[in-house]
Amino acid sequence: MPENSPRAFVTGITGQDGSYLSEQLLGAGWDVHALVRREQGSEPATPAAPVLLDQRIRQHRGDLADPSQLAALIQDIQPGVVFNLGGISSVARSWEEPALTAQVSGVAVTAMLEAAWRFQENSGKPVKFVQASSAEIFGSATHSPQTEETAIRPVSPYGAAKAYAHSMVDIYRERGLAASSAILYNHESPRRPLDFVTRKITSQVAAIAAGSGERLGLGNLEARRDWGWAPDFVDAMLRMAAAETADDYIIATGTAHSVSDFVAASFAAVGIEDWEEHVFIDQRFVRPADASEMRGDASKARRQLGWEPTVEFKEIVARMTRHDVSLLEKDGLHE
Ligand code: GDP
Repeated sequence: MPENSPRAFVTGITGQDGSYLSEQLLGAGWDVHALVRREQGSEPATPAAPVLLDQRIRQHRGDLADPSQLAALIQDIQPGVVFNLGGISSVARSWEEPALTAQVSGVAVTAMLEAAWRFQENSGKPVKFVQASSAEIFGSATHSPQTEETAIRPVSPYGAAKAYAHSMVDIYRERGLAASSAILYNHESPRRPLDFVTRKITSQVAAIAAGSGERLGLGNLEARRDWGWAPDFVDAMLRMAAAETADDYIIATGTAHSVSDFVAASFAAVGIEDWEEHVFIDQRFVRPADASEMRGDASKARRQLGWEPTVEFKEIVARMTRHDVSLLEKDGLHE
């Protein structure tokens, strides 16, 4: 690694976004340091976990639930940019573990911002901070699309933790740290874990197409989401890290589809048109509260970062479905 390679500290590297981000950073010659949880054995395997096999990534054992250790790591690593993509990644799981969600998706961010700011103060070396914020901070927004000015009013433990972290990013930006929040709308890929609705659908559609005979049980089919292509969203965060001025940006496609649109498109990708007979409503997946439509206006990111989404809805669904069909053909199993 050349002496003067830019250095990044990435949390959440085994997640969908972390894996794409680290590939892009390594490709561009960055020195990549990653937070990796202490007890690997107890971690759920994620579709993106193989990223850790890349020997160029320097792994640091730690936990987002341990703020003092996070601070010490930042002090040691001395990163030029912190990309915080870690935390409880699913709204569904945040309802099961609300206090843990507050800790790892909220308090941990404050600990890292404070450590980055302190290091910058003491060393005189500038540190940038890019926070993976979320559309969930807007909760059940009264208007669509949402913009950077939309009122923050979360309706889930996940949204509340992200809203707190979002405010802290703004506070540290005021304090002199180049901290930015990417307000990410749903973004998908074949590396999405199976508990997100998109990958749950595409994996089960692939199984049904292969003759599993099972039916697909889902919760709210009417919910409308602005689904984009995950590598595009990672590209946005890289642009934010490269920008001269830190700021908050909505990252979204601007187009929303319902869960049933997604189901129909996935079945269509395997040549099944009469999808209704393969689907039923399973109350276990209906959430205590769920925004009816999340749709973002990314005009500011388009204008100021030159960012734009490159893959449209049907193609995202087709790519994910094809991936799951080929996984089944290969070994009959999902990771
Ligand atoms: P989220 O937007 O970050 O919560 O991403 P998800 O992929 O988990 O959920 C997207 C939308 O799909 C939400 O409105 C869910 O209520 C809805 N949904 C409907 N059925 C399901 C299901 O079986 N699993 C999940 N995860 N979401 C579902």
